[in-house]
Amino acid sequence: MDNLGKTNKQVLDRYLKLEADSGKIQLEYLWIDGTGEGIRSKCRTIDFVPKDVSELPIWNYDGSSTYQAEGSNSDMYLQPVAIFNDPFRLGNNKLVMCEVNKYNKLPADTNYRHTCREVMDRAKHEHPWFGIEQEYTMLSQDGHPFGWPKQGFPGPQGPYYCGVGANKVYGRDIVEAHYRACLYAGVKIAGCNAEVMPAQWEFQVGPCEGIDMGDHLWVARYILHRVSEDFGVVITLDPKPMPGDWNGAGAHTNYSTKSMREEGGLAHIEKAITKLSTKHDIHIKYYDPKEGEDNKRRLTGRHETSSIQDFSAGVANRGASIRIPRQVAEEGQGYLEDRRPASNCDPYRVTEIIVRTTVLDE
Ligand code: ADP
Ligand code: MN
Ligand code: MN
Ligand code: MN
Repeated sequence: MDNLGKTNKQVLDRYLKLEADSGKIQLEYLWIDGTGEGIRSKCRTIDFVPKDVSELPIWNYDGSSTYQAEGSNSDMYLQPVAIFNDPFRLGNNKLVMCEVNKYNKLPADTNYRHTCREVMDRAKHEHPWFGIEQEYTMLSQDGHPFGWPKQGFPGPQGPYYCGVGANKVYGRDIVEAHYRACLYAGVKIAGCNAEVMPAQWEFQVGPCEGIDMGDHLWVARYILHRVSEDFGVVITLDPKPMPGDWNGAGAHTNYSTKSMREEGGLAHIEKAITKLSTKHDIHIKYYDPKEGEDNKRRLTGRHETSSIQDFSAGVANRGASIRIPRQVAEEGQGYLEDRRPASNCDPYRVTEIIVRTTVLDE
């Protein structure tokens, strides 16, 4: 509160109403830091309204502060790759997704978009589509799940998934705000629901073709963290935030190629599953930032997961690595769901390895 009794947000609104002079606009550049899961951003002014991402300048930042470089040689390059409307500043202001390159112009260690883009280019005849279900957990600033009693635990899981009521779901305001902000930005958000563990939620992005999947999901994550900041709530993408009898969080990846979506597609889905079955271990390495260490806590064979060691597939089976949705089996065409990726996965890595295994036979 200020001395007139206004909240800081009400005070801020006064300034956000100011119209920028002479066509100046603000660009918020977003990028992935050296952890492979953290998102960073910074702002600059330009004096034209960009129509295409190719018009935007390359920029740089201090990689020694993002776990990406030594202080003595710290400049990293930001290469703009996709633009979205800015749901926070409105007007012509933009969010700009960037790839990170090192001082020698080679991709940074956690720039997985670079190879993903090459793979998607080589597979474009198959028009790979993805839809990712992003699960996440809201925390209070003290690190405790948002809305949970400060001492003890909420009642056991059962009533919370897709629940309604103040004793079933916590944080719906944030979910609603995030959904609208994604639509405004131009992120292809497809739906949302409350999850099995209280304070856990999901949104889906897709279907997106090729490289767009990673771009749209990373921007949706940025918007989620940014909206939650306004509400004083912290978002964690940890795949198992609460040990014990509480569901973990995944990033189920729904996937199809042109052949799978056409008549007789089920045979192509089954062929892809056979290929995936021979590459389980390498896929697990691509499905979380710690090459399986994070996902090990989640993929236990319980709580609607398969065991991290074994590959399995089945129609309507939510305890399998790969699920063929019931409707897809009945219609004989459609898509498959890879249930293994962790909530903190890099979608560029996940989509790249799926296409390499199933389309490029690498
Ligand atoms: P679940 O039943 O596993 O909870 P959801 O409804 O949460 O499934 O998510 C399904 C996702 O599948 C959506 O994001 C949707 O965009 C995506 N999807 C639908 N059809 C296809 C397709 N042909 N190829 C790839 N993804 C698809
Ligand atoms: Mn879902
Ligand atoms: Mn879910
Ligand atoms: Mn799912």
